[in-house]
Amino acid sequence: MIYLDNSATTSVDPEVLTAFTKVNQNFWGNPSSLHAFGARAEQLLIQAEKQTLSLLNAKQHKVIFTSGATESNNLAIRGVCHAYKNRGCHIITTPVEHASVYETAEDLEQEGFRVTFIDVKKSKTEILKQIEEAICEDTILISCMHVNNEMGMIFPIYEIGQLIKKYPKIKFHVDAVQSVGKIPVDMDKMNIDLLSFSAHKFHGLKGCGALVMNQYLKLVPEITGGHQMYGLRSGTINVAGAVALAKALRLAIEPLNANYNHVKSLYDYTVKELKAMDGVTVNDCYPELTPYIINFAVENIKGETLVHALEEHDVYISAKSACSSKSAQASRILLALGVSEEVALDSVRLSFANTSTLEEATQFINALKLVVVQMRKEMMK
Ligand code: PMP
Repeated sequence: MIYLDNSATTSVDPEVLTAFTKVNQNFWGNPSSLHAFGARAEQLLIQAEKQTLSLLNAKQHKVIFTSGATESNNLAIRGVCHAYKNRGCHIITTPVEHASVYETAEDLEQEGFRVTFIDVKKSKTEILKQIEEAICEDTILISCMHVNNEMGMIFPIYEIGQLIKKYPKIKFHVDAVQSVGKIPVDMDKMNIDLLSFSAHKFHGLKGCGALVMNQYLKLVPEITGGHQMYGLRSGTINVAGAVALAKALRLAIEPLNANYNHVKSLYDYTVKELKAMDGVTVNDCYPELTPYIINFAVENIKGETLVHALEEHDVYISAKSACSSKSAQASRILLALGVSEEVALDSVRLSFANTSTLEEATQFINALKLVVVQMRKEMMK
């Protein structure tokens, strides 16, 4: 199998699975229990939190372990807006956010919040300028993803973080699902108040995510009950999941530079091969892109058709993101990034993991060439 859909999810690292199983077998107590067996589980939870904070250089933050970034994004955005609504009702975000941010912002609009979606077709400087121009007395939150999940563009998170230092009333939320464990994320340097991510995007487990948040922030919880997780996410805590998340994070971040260089070499090879093919457009006209994602279109072949044709060769890529790939419409994200509707409908996403190999990239290119020739022949009939 040639699996190149790692932005949708990655394989589980056996070490992560072992850590998860060990906690479930030996330390399955409830960390909220008063007795020593519960306290042992609590210690593991505290250790997982400390490790997570240290790996992200989050100096004045705490961790809410969640079921994944969708929950983290909802908690961060709704939580801040509901907690600070008496200070203002304006949010700034982008039109290319994941649905868990985009649709949450739309919901909040229905509740009476005002949302500014900045134009992301512009350069980095112009994006920053637009944000500064959009900031007003009423602004309480900026939510911007670090790396876009369909196109791979990298947003100027460091620069936004510096910009908002002038506006202490504004909270800064970053959806870092496609960046954590792949490119550097330094919460302190980047001045990030709230950061969301999911462990399954870097060889961790599905159902395990985190919201790392400034400990001085107020949030209105989404889930009420037994006051676990600093009172912000009630429900018996998944200690094994938290330990597994911290483990996956360490395994991804410690060799980050070497992994990045490896994936960059796969990216360079694949993009060069794609660009040499007739009728292939690589959607890469942005100043900063992650090497983990390649978005491209094969002229006159619908993305969905190409995905299915490649799967016949045991090659797995994606049309749009996994969360939106079942809709037949052109990707909202590609359109917002200035890709024409025609090219957007033909676009597919290939995404690497640290475990991807040059052999896999070569086999993908060979399969693609074969499939495109076959499909063009059929179209001529
Ligand atoms: N944000 C981004 C940028 C994503 O790519 C994803 C997953 N596709 C999510 C949020 C949601 O993550 P999960 O499905 O793990 O909750």
